[in-house]
Amino acid sequence: MRYLSTRGHADRKQFCEILLEGLAPDGGLYLPEQYPQVDTATLARWRQLPYAELAFEILSLYIDDIPAADLKALCAKTYTRDVFGTDAIVPLRQLEDGVYLEALSNGPTLAFKDMAMQLLGNLFEYELGRRGEELNILGATSGDTGSAAEYAMRGKKGVRVFMTSPHGRMSPFQQAQMFSLLDANIHNLAVDGVFDDCQDIVKAVSNDLDFKRKYRIGTVNSINWARLLAQVVYYFAGYFQATQKDGDPVSFTVPSGNFGNVCAGHVARMMGLPIARLVVATNENDVLDEFFRTGVYRVRGSADTHETSSPSMDISKASNFERFVFDLLGRDGQRTGQLFGQRLAESGSFDLHLDPAFAAAAERFGFVSGKSTHADRLATIQDTWQRFGQMIDTHTADGLKVAREQVQAGIPMVVLETALPIKFAETIVEALGRSPERPARFEGIEDLPRRVERVAADVDVVKAYIATHCD
Ligand SMILES: *Cc1c(COP(=O)(O)O)cnc(C)c1O
Repeated sequence: MRYLSTRGHADRKQFCEILLEGLAPDGGLYLPEQYPQVDTATLARWRQLPYAELAFEILSLYIDDIPAADLKALCAKTYTRDVFGTDAIVPLRQLEDGVYLEALSNGPTLAFKDMAMQLLGNLFEYELGRRGEELNILGATSGDTGSAAEYAMRGKKGVRVFMTSPHGRMSPFQQAQMFSLLDANIHNLAVDGVFDDCQDIVKAVSNDLDFKRKYRIGTVNSINWARLLAQVVYYFAGYFQATQKDGDPVSFTVPSGNFGNVCAGHVARMMGLPIARLVVATNENDVLDEFFRTGVYRVRGSADTHETSSPSMDISKASNFERFVFDLLGRDGQRTGQLFGQRLAESGSFDLHLDPAFAAAAERFGFVSGKSTHADRLATIQDTWQRFGQMIDTHTADGLKVAREQVQAGIPMVVLETALPIKFAETIVEALGRSPERPARFEGIEDLPRRVERVAADVDVVKAYIATHCD
């Protein structure tokens, strides 16, 4: 399997080459040259498999530069009861008739990003070890991504993490989660500023090519193909739990921000998994809902980007969306490059509503969308608690609200649960008047010793910190 850029660059690459890379040289995102096809007989065989073996089967269709035995061992080491809490790894539970929650948030940081990041940690350690190289991951986080990355990379050979976050702006639980990691290869940098300052620092460091090369700076952001690929697996696992017969359709609703999670659903559907609808659920930051309703993709400015009670979906643009548009436009790299390159740079938006490809988006690709607000979240959290005794988090509530608008008779609707309620306790208290349950292993983490360095919002300060902690 080889990989190409969504902007039409002539290079073709192997999996391990793009594993440690960010964007393609032309600024595009990597996708496989084609999607391997899975028939009913294969589905029937996969249905029997434990999660780690299912992951191996799917990954091995896309990765041919890691020996099969090694890849199998990496999957077995990643997807364990020990790390994800159950043998099912992503257990399904029913709410009302035909509506299910698929639990993706029982990993180390209680959000779905662990599903991919835990594998990425093991892949990085393996590949860096094989090359005899080291990598320093520099990131910016306002919560879930940073902690998932740190828990995935802690103690891994050849990898260091330098994670910037806005000082005092993450939830107390999220701060405790990240800052209580004492591993020598994990560095928390609390920046005096807001999230955008952190992101600007990361960008400035990455644009300093000499520094980047000298200190082997890399990233783990959501455009990484390996993360997307790891996420494809739980669409299959959810499908098997929601159906009895291979070939029966299932729909998925996905609380969405950067379009990474639901893009993995798109890949699963392109492989032939019988997915009827892929429902994109947004919060008040409705860039994606607007596109699927109107054909207009309009990047928001920072004044137009709302801080909400489902903060992991507070985006101004959807960084993985380009992958879907590339497929939507019949894999026309030149056109995709024009839209996401020139057009967005010039006007901040593009409009596909007159394009026949857009008219076919729902029919050919199954995409529909909806939006949920703070009031919707509160109502959905209350209703789900009262009727089913289930406490759900704010992002999952956005999904459930939109899912109910898109249910079709006879087709199971699986809502992806993207975090546990304890991560967003303040809104749970607002909705239910009580605090969410806390898994035993997180009891008292606020009182643990912390390892965090407070720094000015200054690129040179961060560079100096990296330089002195790099050997
Ligand atoms: C990251 C995140 C999302 C959004 O996922 P995307 O892949 O960016 O669409 C939704 N919910 C939670 C809890 C998250 O951490």
